[in-house]
Formats: sequence, structure tokens, C-alpha cells
Amino acid sequence: MINATELQLLKDALARLAEGYADLPDFKPEFDVPKAADVLDEVAARMQDNYPYYHPQYAGQMLKPPHPIARIGYAMSLWVNPNNHALDGGRASSAMEKECVVELGRMFGWDNPLAHLTGGGTMANLEALWVSGRLHPGRRIVASTQAHYTHSRITEVLGLPFTAVPVSNDGRMDLDALEVLLKNGDVGTVVATMGNTGLGAVDPLQAIVELQRDYEFRIHADAAYGGYFVLADELRNETRAAYEQLTAVDSIVIDPHKHGLQPYGCGSVLFKDPSVGALYKHDSPFTYFSSAELHLGEISLECSRPGASAVALWATQQLLPLVPGGEFAAILDDCLIAAGQFWSRLRDSSNFVPLMTPELDIVVYAVKAPDSSKASDRARQVFAAAAERNLHLALIELPIELVQEYAPGIRADSETVTCLRSVLMKPEHLGWLETIVDVLETSADAAR
Ligand SMILES: *Cc1c(COP(=O)(O)O)cnc(C)c1O
Repeated sequence: MINATELQLLKDALARLAEGYADLPDFKPEFDVPKAADVLDEVAARMQDNYPYYHPQYAGQMLKPPHPIARIGYAMSLWVNPNNHALDGGRASSAMEKECVVELGRMFGWDNPLAHLTGGGTMANLEALWVSGRLHPGRRIVASTQAHYTHSRITEVLGLPFTAVPVSNDGRMDLDALEVLLKNGDVGTVVATMGNTGLGAVDPLQAIVELQRDYEFRIHADAAYGGYFVLADELRNETRAAYEQLTAVDSIVIDPHKHGLQPYGCGSVLFKDPSVGALYKHDSPFTYFSSAELHLGEISLECSRPGASAVALWATQQLLPLVPGGEFAAILDDCLIAAGQFWSRLRDSSNFVPLMTPELDIVVYAVKAPDSSKASDRARQVFAAAAERNLHLALIELPIELVQEYAPGIRADSETVTCLRSVLMKPEHLGWLETIVDVLETSADAAR
């Protein structure tokens, strides 16, 4: 887990950073070092009460470890601790943030978006829907029933009406149901989820864009999870077609702290039309007098934000540029391949039934059982048995009709079924697939 190379890189970078401040009289922060050592010992012991999120045998929730360069860049910047709210608080890191979001926009074919980093996808979606509400006051926001639950809550905060659109059996937004809502005439914004959190299904964006010929509405793409897959090679054709339409939407949310190898606290929002920046206008009496250049706080709902996030992301994007065919894209392709192989292995298993073939890198699977309540019990038993063997999975509660579509052998005696879910988002997951399947099958046999 601890890597001497990483510590050396951090030391070298800190030494280089200090050169820039060598003219200042030196001082050292005063604190009780032995006591701090005791406290840190306790903290480290308490931190052991976590699942090993960084390890390839953690194949459960959406948790991807930051790249070493992101960890080191982030840590190094803490010795300066810049604040990207205003240029006075974070000159260098604000410049890095502006460069980073240009690169993010380029992935979607955007030249000049209004964009900035946020604390995460929730804040980023809040800003996107806030802009929607400012441009279409009182008009309805719609998102699929598999969209992130944050959308219904955010619209509550914003005081905008919200309707959930049903999904078809593949987990994507149902277009007929969407058109019924559009016919009512009060929809201001359709949220297309580019990789929903539960199933990794991608809403059919190409068809949603086509509906703009007959109805007038904005499109916001929640690509918090799946946005980076626009760079991947291994997408199915219809998924690729949906991603290709991202250039046509009005706003995009993408979380570098999901698939972008960043520590938590790094989301982003991008608006295709930079003139929406005028909506953020406010007169802070104290922050913006240092230059005529853009302070990121002028186009962000959040005020203080960690410059460290921009430093970490900038470093990562230098090492692993966001280009098709590059090393970063290859990591995403490996995740897609791992998910596809995992799905096939489950299809051939005597213990499991996989649900829909994965569009991205999320695989959802039921445990074989005569009825739905037993399938749910067994899923929880396998979850526990696997954890005992250091394989960590996740659980998801799904409507029985959806599960029966793929597992007709499971009789319905409950409205929902607990299934297992594995997000194979780590660069190492493809190489570890055999081990993961072996431990999973052993655990299922033991749980029987
Ligand atoms: C994770 C996620 C969010 C919420 O983002 P946070 O970074 O957790 O605040 C929103 N939408 C989708 C599709 C997500 O996967």
C-alpha cells in the first residue's frame, strides 16, 4: 500500500515548490510533535475500519483510487493551500483549473464552454439545473427513474417541478414516456443520464436530441459517472451514438472524482453557451478587485473551493491526456472489457443470472433462487460470504419486473429483488477478473 517512490516524488516536488519562496524569512509551524504522532497513530488505526476501496478485490460501489500523481499533486499543493474562489486566493491553481476545463470541454467537441470545477456532481448538477430554471422559469425538469436521486432533490431546492420518466428494460429512459411528457408543453429541461449510477445504462441521447425538432427544451447531460467514456473505443454502437451527441447538449456534468482518477471533491459543470455566465452576476464587495481577469468565483455558486483539486487534476491530465487512443482511454476500455467478460462468466455460472449486458463497466446480477425473496436473501448471504474472503461487492434493490426480464426463473413473491452489483472501474480489474470470479463462485457455493 505504501510506496516509497510516491513519497520521494512528493518530497522532490515540495522542495521545488519551496524554491519559489526562498526569499522569505523562514519559520516553522509549532506543534506538539510526539502528541501529534500519537493522534495520527490512532487515526490510522481507526481508518482500518474501511473496506479496501483502493484494492482490485474491492469490486462493489463506484470507488476508484486517485492516480498517484493526483495524490501527490493534491498533497503538495496543501503546503500553499490555494482557494480557487478568487485569483487573490489561488492564482496558479485558478489558471490550472481554467486549462483543465478546456480539456474537459474538448472531449465533447466544445471549444469555448463556460466551465469550472465543483465540489462534486451534486453541486455541478445543481448549477446546471439552476441555469435551466433561470432560463425557463417554472418549467418542468424531467429525468429517468434510474437517474441519480439528486435531481428530484435539487429541483425541490430550486422550486422547480420534476417528473421521473420510466425506463425500459435496458435501464434507459423510455422515449414514448418522454414524448407524452413533452406533449404537455411545460418541460423546460430533459436530463439525459450518460451512465446511470445503478446500472450504468446510457439514455438514448440521439433520440432525445431529435425530439428537439418537435418540442422546445434544454438538454442537460448528467455524465457525472460516464462522461469520460466518450474517449473509449469499446462502446457498443448505440452507446457510442449517444455519446457522439454530447456536443449538441446545453450543459454537461462530469465528475473527475468518479472516473477521472481524482480524490473526492472534484466535479465539474460545463455550459456550451458561455453567455449564461451573466446569470451568476453578483457584487462581492471584497473579492474581485485584484485584476480584470476572470475570478472563478464569479461563475460559480460555491465560494471557497480547493485549489488542490485543480492542481491534482491538471497534473493528471498532463500525464494522461484526455485523448482517444491514449493511455487514459485505454484504462476505460479495459474497464469495459472487464465488465463484458464478467457478464459472460456470470451467464455461464450455476449460481448467478446477470441482468442486462453492461453498457459501461457496471454489472448487476441476481443470485439464482426459486422466488424473489430467496434470491434477495441469497444475494445478502453471498455479499457477506465474499466479504469474508476479501472480495467486496455492492447490493442494489430492483423492481421484480425488471429482474424477471432477465431471470424468468425467479418467481415473484416480493415487489423488489436485492441483486449484487459490481462496478469494475479500476485499471486493474481486467487483470484480476479470474481471481474475482473464483472468489465469487467459492463464496456463492459456501453461502448455499
Ligand atoms: C455520482 C453521481 C452523481 C452525484 O455526484 P456526487 O459527485 O456524488 O455529488 C450524480 N449523477 C450521477 C449519474 C452520478 O453517478
